[in-house]
Amino acid sequence: MDRKERYEENMRRKVLVVDDEDVNRQLLGYILSREYDVIYAENGKQALALIRDNKRKLSMVMLDLLMPEMDGFSVMEIMRQDDDLKNIPVIVLTSEKDAELKSLELGAADFITKPYDMPEIILARAKRIIELSEDKLIIMATERDDLTKLYTRKFFFEYAAQLDQYYPEWDMDAVVFDIDHFHLVNELYGRSFGDTVLKKISEVLMDVLLSADGYACRYESDKFFMYCTHIDDYETIYYQMRQAVDDLSESSRVHIRMGIYPNVDKELNLEQRFDRARLTCNSIRNNYAQSIAYYDMKVHEGDLFAERLIHDFPEALERGDLKVFYQPKYGITAEQPVLASAEALVRWQHPEMGLIAPGRFIPMFEQNGLIQKVDHFVWNEVARQIRKWNGKYGIKFPVSVNVSRIDIYDPHLESTLLGILAENGLQPQDLMLEVTESAYASDTDQLIDVVQSLREKGFRIEMDDFGSGYSSLNMLTMLPIDVLKLDMQFIKKMHKDEKSQRLVQLVMDIAEFLSVPVVAEGAEEEAQYQLLKNMGCSLIQGYYFSKPLPVEEFEKLLETIRE
Ligand code: C2E
Ligand code: CA
Ligand code: CA
Repeated sequence: MDRKERYEENMRRKVLVVDDEDVNRQLLGYILSREYDVIYAENGKQALALIRDNKRKLSMVMLDLLMPEMDGFSVMEIMRQDDDLKNIPVIVLTSEKDAELKSLELGAADFITKPYDMPEIILARAKRIIELSEDKLIIMATERDDLTKLYTRKFFFEYAAQLDQYYPEWDMDAVVFDIDHFHLVNELYGRSFGDTVLKKISEVLMDVLLSADGYACRYESDKFFMYCTHIDDYETIYYQMRQAVDDLSESSRVHIRMGIYPNVDKELNLEQRFDRARLTCNSIRNNYAQSIAYYDMKVHEGDLFAERLIHDFPEALERGDLKVFYQPKYGITAEQPVLASAEALVRWQHPEMGLIAPGRFIPMFEQNGLIQKVDHFVWNEVARQIRKWNGKYGIKFPVSVNVSRIDIYDPHLESTLLGILAENGLQPQDLMLEVTESAYASDTDQLIDVVQSLREKGFRIEMDDFGSGYSSLNMLTMLPIDVLKLDMQFIKKMHKDEKSQRLVQLVMDIAEFLSVPVVAEGAEEEAQYQLLKNMGCSLIQGYYFSKPLPVEEFEKLLETIRE
């Protein structure tokens, strides 16, 4: 045998021919052995034994119906009830038309009538049935989770979407099941116990889906999704699960949680509906007193908004939905205010939710780290803009960008900034960096190092929101900065409240002592402007002069300085 033959020999599929009549076995065997490895049985009993022995290798059974010991119907009956055997296709060999219906009901894939057809026809039928069954197995393997036999995530969502499509009028529930600390269950009681728990939960779900229409899947290792017609009583389902799991072991403390989003809003896509169920489910995590939670619009709105933004962010960045606005800073030391610089402030132009202010996503992005992507985007955008304005108006207009705490601790901060500048032919002094005071609180030494190094490279540092934290005064003496930005809250109250006014004056004095200019943020009224001017404040950034503006509008201001 050469290699190819050996390969083909290994690849040859195995088929079983079951017939009590010798001639029939020989005839069929002769035809089939052109293509297949053929094994033989003379009756149902022998057949079953061979099927069991070869269950992983057998591609098809050709089964006579009338035989001694055990007939073909019984063989099919037994195969159908055995998970290991039910997927092996059976072609029934019969001479009676009447037997066909019963065979079909028992799961027969096809028939071959006696006396036999031409060999080619028999071979073609065998081939077709084997192919069909192999295709089905491949689909099943990807469609079902191995352990629980529930659908996999992908197919679950596909089938759920089909339900929506065919039965748009049905009231549906989205339900998430989760287990607290499942890894601990695995560690304490062993993996196989953990697997059994998962199987038990799946069995209950399959049971539920016998009476409710819908689908369930294993979404993650210990998390299940169910999409089904509305159910009033989830308590019972919960107790069935509890019972099934408690029956496994008295002592195990497996806490199953259910988050239910009933009568889903079909305007939302399926993922969003399950987001709601998932959030609901997470809201009772580690709360052993509560195992079932229903989605409540009011409670979860904030969370959902946050999740939505996090989810939409990558696309927004890619599509250019983040916009940089520019708020002018005016110098007020001369007789007439002069446009001196600007702060770049990000906005998110969301395709569905409209213009979103940074206050709604920046604090959250500071927590999850996405802020760095925002900042890098803004820095690039601003550098590009400064270069563009330079070409258009012949000035290098200085712009401040915000630098978050996370940026400060990024070892690549300096090289990132220098890279962006180099790409746009700019110098460090063209981009001013606003570092917020709250960043100063955590790791002072590191901050001082970073700021010092940036200043040595030529960057100018503004201390943002000065006065909003607590470490400020002390920090001022240690940290070399170029500009001090007074927090908005003092300015807001200064013309109405004497204490605030004295505080502002105090800061002005300190700043003068340190010879750093002060930017007053948030001046909205003439009275504030006058007071600040008299106190010796250098710059004002506030609605009194202008709100943050989109580029096109800001350019109108730039055109005025050129004149
Ligand atoms: P911030 O850095 O303190 O920016 C000043 C904020 O005060 C801006 O709010 C500005 O629109 C607002 N403001 C200025 N003048 C007035 C005024 O007269 N009255 C009132 N009521 N408000 C005034 P905005 O644009 O909503 O930004 C809020 C915060 O979001 C910023 O505070 C900053 O901490 C953060 N942020 C904005 N863009 C970025 C960014 O690109 N990166 C980072 N890391 N943070 C950013
Ligand atoms: Ca700022
Ligand atoms: Ca500020």
